[in-house]
Amino acid sequence: MSVTPERADRRKVAYVLPVYEEAENIGVFHTAILESTATRPDLDFEFVYVNDGSKDDSLDRLLELRAEDSRVSVISLSRNFGHQMAVTAGLDAVADADAVIIMDTDLQDPPRVSIEMIEMWEGGVDVVFAQRRSRKDSVFKRSTAWLFYWTLDRLASIEIPRNVGDFRLMDARVVAEVSRYREHERFLRGIVAHVGFRQEALLFDRDERHAGTTGYPLKKMLKFAANGILGFSTTPLKMISRLGFVISGISVLLALYVFGVRIFNPEDAVPGWAFLGVGMFLLSGLQLIMMGVIGSYLGRVYVEVQDRPLYSVALAARGDRGDRREASR
Ligand code: UDP
Ligand code: MG
Repeated sequence: MSVTPERADRRKVAYVLPVYEEAENIGVFHTAILESTATRPDLDFEFVYVNDGSKDDSLDRLLELRAEDSRVSVISLSRNFGHQMAVTAGLDAVADADAVIIMDTDLQDPPRVSIEMIEMWEGGVDVVFAQRRSRKDSVFKRSTAWLFYWTLDRLASIEIPRNVGDFRLMDARVVAEVSRYREHERFLRGIVAHVGFRQEALLFDRDERHAGTTGYPLKKMLKFAANGILGFSTTPLKMISRLGFVISGISVLLALYVFGVRIFNPEDAVPGWAFLGVGMFLLSGLQLIMMGVIGSYLGRVYVEVQDRPLYSVALAARGDRGDRREASR
């Protein structure tokens, strides 16, 4: 950056910062982010704090920040909608930025890493996601996270990178695409992976929460994991028929066994057991196969009802306008 460009073509980076009961962290967090962003005077910054129905005085802290600095925006939701909705509300508000960074406000995501993300974005990467090299979470949180990604890897139709949270930078084009996904049970990192574009990882060390407790207790975590798996896969439905075929297969094996006993060992045969045993396995197997058939149709209905955009355009050069990237860089 040799010369600071004119105001008109300065580029704008917006931070989307979800806040839920972070009154003790906001001040420290904001100081840290100001310190980091001060290293890039050539860029315009906006700090969009989304208060997700906090019951402590987070909102007052945010309004104080706003009174001091007009680059601070505050969106306050009517109640606690959860982290994913808070981030969505923030993304909807920053349509005019050239890039958006999503970040937690408990100082687990180090602000200086976001500056490295900006550098990668300037190098042409559309999505820079922060990948944890190490994490200082509890053994429980680490092992459940591992199990979740393992399951997701096997079931979901898209590749969702491991050890990646929502801490990421997205180019404006990606934000526009993500905003077209209006599903209610949101799993943002799945949506971002689904959208495509050039995505690269940036390794970082995740810090410990500065103060307060996690807003993701086990119940919320399970719901979140279920959204990730059910939102991006109809495999659980298909598994019903697979189970049905396995059980029907068992009934065939059992029939062979019963038949064998009858021929070679007639004195061991129990009257009526062939009908009961084989029938039980055969019938429940058939029922599961049929449920699986219904499941396959239901899966298609589900995908259609989600009504997601079918594709996303990465580049559209038309007339003399050039593509967005050309125009804004
Ligand atoms: N958060 C939110 N709404 C919630 C829970 C959390 O907006 O219902 C915010 C929270 O303020 C933080 C971020 O989401 O900035 C991540 O939450 P947390 O640190 O509790 O999750 P963890 O890091 O333990 O996964
Ligand atoms: Mg946290």
